[in-house]
Amino acid sequence: MSREIVHARVVESLSRLRMRSIAERLDALLSEAARTEPTYLDFLDKMLCEEIGSKQRKRVAMGIQIAHFPAIKTLEDFDFKFQPSIDQKLVRELATGRFIAEAENVLVFGPPGVGKTHLAIALGRAAVEAGHSVLFTSATALLATLSKAETEGQLAEKLLFYTKPKLLVVDELGYLPFERQSAHLFFQLVARRYEKSSTLITTNQVVTQWGTVFGDEVLAAAILDRLLHHSHTLMISGDSYRLKQKKKAGLLGGNAVSAR
Ligand code: ADP
Ligand code: MG
Repeated sequence: MSREIVHARVVESLSRLRMRSIAERLDALLSEAARTEPTYLDFLDKMLCEEIGSKQRKRVAMGIQIAHFPAIKTLEDFDFKFQPSIDQKLVRELATGRFIAEAENVLVFGPPGVGKTHLAIALGRAAVEAGHSVLFTSATALLATLSKAETEGQLAEKLLFYTKPKLLVVDELGYLPFERQSAHLFFQLVARRYEKSSTLITTNQVVTQWGTVFGDEVLAAAILDRLLHHSHTLMISGDSYRLKQKKKAGLLGGNAVSAR
């Protein structure tokens, strides 16, 4: 059979098997093989690794899009030396995504500017890379969405939407206090996710302040009880990275300046 016919059939078969990357790069892969003369096994291995690598990259890109991260932040560009209070070993362990398989939660505490959001995004990306579904939201946006859904009779659907991701990142809890009704919606979400999937929360408020954040001590205790039951805690105490950059640029004098 002519080479052209076989070539056309291989391309057709690859596309039916949805091995798009090999189908697209077939000629380049064939000429490389003609040059390097790998064994049949090595050639097959290279083709399959190529396809798997390409599928993985597409899956990660899609997962990152779905997660709605507010910025691109990675663990590689996080300067751990600047923030020695951070348990780096724990962060590295969390980046494996194993806590998600165990439906454990993560709470990140610290003052403004110390890298809480940065770490939350970086851990979220790592979770996507490890194959988990992730959704990132600010606490304010989450509560506004749930309240609106409740008013419009769509609460069940919205709660389901926020219950589905294997990892839900709720950023900046406590910057704005919740209305009592919103606090109740947050409790419902936490109760639904409890022991089923992981929630990562960043907050500038220590747990003793959560009563004030939620406007209700009993509700705050019920929320904390579920969040902390199977959880990892990252405490960050240190200087604001934002202020460090401003100081470097000579924008600040010696006086204390608020970080926000
Ligand atoms: P927080 O959420 O704690 O208020 P952010 O994570 O938003 O702080 O950090 C503020 C800015 O400083 C972001 O641009 C972040 O990427 C950067 N940043 C904070 N800490 C570090 C760090 N240790 N290394 C590198 N960049 C950092
Ligand atoms: Mg933040």
